[in-house]
Formats: sequence, C-alpha cells, structure tokens
Amino acid sequence: MRAAIARRGKIVVDDFPTPEPGAGEVLVRTRVCGICGSDIHALHHGRRLLGLMRRAGGFFTADPDLDLVPGHEFCAEVVDYGPSTQRQIPVGSLVCSQPALVGAAGIEPVGFSNHAPGGYGQYMKLMEGLLLPVPNGLSAEHAALTEPMAVGVHAVARAELPRGAAVLVVGCGPVGLAVIGALKLAGAQQVIAADFSPKRRALAEAMGADAAVDPAVSSPYERFQDLAQVDPTQAAPRPIWQSGPSLRPQVIFECVGVPGVLASVFEGAEAGARVVVVGVCMEQDHFEPIYAINKEIDVRFVFGHSQDEFTATLRHIAEGDLPIDGLITAKVGLGGVAAAFEALAEPDDHAKILIDPWADDS
Ligand SMILES: [Zn+2]
Repeated sequence: MRAAIARRGKIVVDDFPTPEPGAGEVLVRTRVCGICGSDIHALHHGRRLLGLMRRAGGFFTADPDLDLVPGHEFCAEVVDYGPSTQRQIPVGSLVCSQPALVGAAGIEPVGFSNHAPGGYGQYMKLMEGLLLPVPNGLSAEHAALTEPMAVGVHAVARAELPRGAAVLVVGCGPVGLAVIGALKLAGAQQVIAADFSPKRRALAEAMGADAAVDPAVSSPYERFQDLAQVDPTQAAPRPIWQSGPSLRPQVIFECVGVPGVLASVFEGAEAGARVVVVGVCMEQDHFEPIYAINKEIDVRFVFGHSQDEFTATLRHIAEGDLPIDGLITAKVGLGGVAAAFEALAEPDDHAKILIDPWADDS
C-alpha cells in the first residue's frame, strides 16, 4: 500500500506492507486521518520520546530507526475480517476506533508503532472489539474528529466540575478546542478561553467559549475575576488569609503543554482552583510550589480517553452537539503531508488538517 511514512525524522511517501489482520482483527481502508501535534513531536523527537517512555512508561515504544506509519485520528471502511471474528459490521461500513491493538503481548498503539500502521497509510488493521460503526449520514471527515474531541470529553470528566464553576481554558489549539466543546456539552456556563492567535480565539468562540482573551493585550486571569464574581454565599471556600472578591469555583485547563505554562497558571489561579493539565509537555518543567501551596490548588493530570468516552463523543458529533465545522482547515493527499507538518507550526493558518491517502496527489 502507499503511505506517508515517518522515516528517520522525515515524512516520505513510499510503499509499506499492507497489514494482515490477525485473530480478532479487521482490515480497514483508511478514508481520512487527522494530523495531531503528537505525530509531529514523535517525528522530530522520536529518540527522546522513546527514552522518556521507557523511563516513565507509556504508549510510544517504536524504534525511531525503523519506518512508522503515523495516524491515530481516523475514520475507515471495513474491508475484511481476520480469523476468530464475529463479523457483525458489514464490509464497506464506515467505522471509528480507539487507536490501539490489544494482544497477548500488551497494547500496540496504532500510529505510534512500527507494527501497527496508522491512518497515514491506505490500510490499517484494527481490533474488531473496539470498532464503532459511524452513524448513518455522518461524514468520514467529521467522524475522524472523534479521537481528538474525545480527549476533551475525558479531560472534562476528570475535572469533575464543581457546581456553578467558572472555567478558564489556556491554549486554544485542537486540545483546547476539544476541551471547550466538551465543557459546553457538560453545561459549563462561563468559559473563558485564552490564546495569542486571533484565528484560534475565533475558533474558541465558535466552539462555545463565552469570551476569548488575547493574553498579549489583557490578563485572562483578570478577565476571569470580572466574570466569575458572585455573592459570597456562592463562592468557593478559601483559606482565611486569602483576600479579594468572592468568586465562583475556578477550574483551569492547561492545554498548551510547554515549559513555564503551568508555573504561570499557578501564579494566576484563584485560591482553591482546580487545574487540569491536558497539554502534553515532553520537557522538564519547573514551578514554585509556594504559589500552589498558598492557594491550595488541586492539580489533575489527564491523558487519552475511555471506550465509553470515545463512543459518547462519536454520538455527540453525529447528533450535531459539537460545533466542529470550523475545525477542519485543509485536506491533503499523501503528497501533501510533509508540507502540512510545516504549515501546522503556524497557529494562525490551521486547526486540523486531514489526510486522504487515496487522493490523487498520493
Ligand atoms: Zn492526537
């Protein structure tokens, strides 16, 4: 099959062995696949990532000297079943799946493994037990956003939003936008988004943010204070030595994932705030704990999504509950993947770029 392959730090279009489905697995034909920031990170920092994951445990165990077909945000079509399968979804049906093969040897992450090619290739093998049929009428393009949007659904579930909470989302790339969409699904009333990019702020508002702040112009934390003031009986409890206005309980989602952001969140947060770390920082980071101590900040780190959250996200997209139309900013064939990786470095040009590995320029 043809695929856009990560080969020693570069994307090249070449042949890659078509996967053969084993027991419990299904061969699918990729319809579209989104490009994720973590694909770009894995391409440029594969060796570092591997070392990090060996120490910390984690999904990435690929050998950076061997070819790898990335892509974990996909929608595909059932082509054929491997042995020991139930075959309940008809051949030709559109499906989504969590990007993982589960076998006796453990979990093989689709798109982050030398052995489980992802959606940058024309075919993939997936687990029959994880397949979700795409509801009638939903396009493959929208269905392919299930994986990135499920990241937001999981983060918001882990936040356990306090009643009446006001929320600040720091960073409005695809992760922040998924969090904003999930917050609105969860009924959050006051969501303030912060990003330096005007395009991302516009997308944040389209996704349902009540206000989008440019941190270069005004402090999102001050804006938060203005919007979150309540009468003292509704305020979150706070240590006696904290002064200032009475505010709704505060939840802050860190969706940037670069060193220094968490420190600035702790500095700007209100007393008693809950901080949910969704951005994936791969570097050493540092902060002064006293900020978080004085304010008794509650920090939660989150990653990925459960099968239930993934299923619910696909249903929400199919029912039109998530305003995702503006998220897809380009579609390319395999020949356009390398340039798309470059383009995604500019936050003002794109949100999600989809790959169609069967398009003409492939
Ligand atoms: Zn992703």
